[in-house]
Amino acid sequence: MPKTITLQLSPKQAADEKFYIARAAERLGIRQSEIALARVVKRSIDARQRMAKVNLSLEIYIDKEPQPAPLHFDYPSVDGGTEVVVVGSGPAGLFASLRLIELGFKPILLERGKSVLSRKHDIAQINRGGEINPDSNYAFGEGGAGTFSDGKLFTRSKKRGDYNKALQTLVWHGANPAILYEAHPHIGTDKLPRIISNICRTINEHGGKVLFESKVSGFVVKQGRITGVKVGDNTIEGAAVVLATGHSARDIYELLHASGIAVEAKPFAMGVRIEHPQRLIDSIQYHRDERGEWLPAASY
Ligand SMILES: Cc1cc2nc3c(=O)[nH]c(=O)nc-3n(C[C@H](O)[C@H](O)[C@H](O)COP(=O)(O)OP(=O)(O)OC[C@H]3O[C@@H](n4cnc5c(N)ncnc54)[C@H](O)[C@@H]3O)c2cc1C
Repeated sequence: MPKTITLQLSPKQAADEKFYIARAAERLGIRQSEIALARVVKRSIDARQRMAKVNLSLEIYIDKEPQPAPLHFDYPSVDGGTEVVVVGSGPAGLFASLRLIELGFKPILLERGKSVLSRKHDIAQINRGGEINPDSNYAFGEGGAGTFSDGKLFTRSKKRGDYNKALQTLVWHGANPAILYEAHPHIGTDKLPRIISNICRTINEHGGKVLFESKVSGFVVKQGRITGVKVGDNTIEGAAVVLATGHSARDIYELLHASGIAVEAKPFAMGVRIEHPQRLIDSIQYHRDERGEWLPAASY
């Protein structure tokens, strides 16, 4: 069993592995050479005082490294499995598809937009003031609405499932393992598209199917149940249909309504985006003009 300790360090000390391992040995009253592995399990910044401090929680393994490796996903092959139609390749559709594979079902993931790579060209065109492709843009396409965002992962809600597993799934598909312990984890705009593509590769490689430019334009309803969807002239049926079309696809609500399927409005919600220069947020959070070399960009 590892021992868990929390050290309060300066930002520079917290970035220096040798330093914090030496400090951990001192705290535990053991020699440094007895520590086989020191794993950071949480890092948070306490900037309430004039000099910001880093609280570093460590799991210390003495003599023996942990076995087995802490992170491993073993998706089964679902080739030939019962098919389930998933509509939308945003976070909801991607994670639903992975879960279906874990349970032995074959997801057929239908996405109206294009793959991340092709989508980048359509977004570049929007930024140049060009035409907007109604099916491939900031909201629609592989990865869904937040694909070209910073990928902030701040939720700690335990009500709707295991957030640790969600973070581990992202690490398994290429995210920095630091998201597992950072207090304010984020994936990074430059890395998120590749992680999304890796998730789609997992789905395809394990027997599922990801189909881009496949806009669902109708439902197959039998005895009061949706048993399939229409994509162009094709009908795709499955044991179940998971609608994961996000909140930007207004047409899907109109389609549900037109198909006689009850739709209930959510209470009204409005988001406001406010941007500040990073330097201002740093100076407010860290009580100094420059955050220096060792502190990360401060969050709100
Ligand atoms: C600019 C921006 C930045 C964001 N940044 C963050 C962040 O940093 N952290 C965070 O947690 N959240 C962020 N969000 C919010 C986050 O992106 C959403 O909460 C999330 O994408 C919702 O996931 P979803 O799978 O439900 O829907 P969506 O991501 O909207 O995915 C729905 C998918 O369904 C597809 N679709 C729709 N209709 C059809 C159809 N008829 N047929 C086939 N496919 C269809 C769409 O093309 C889309 O790909 C951001 C959102 C935006 C817009």
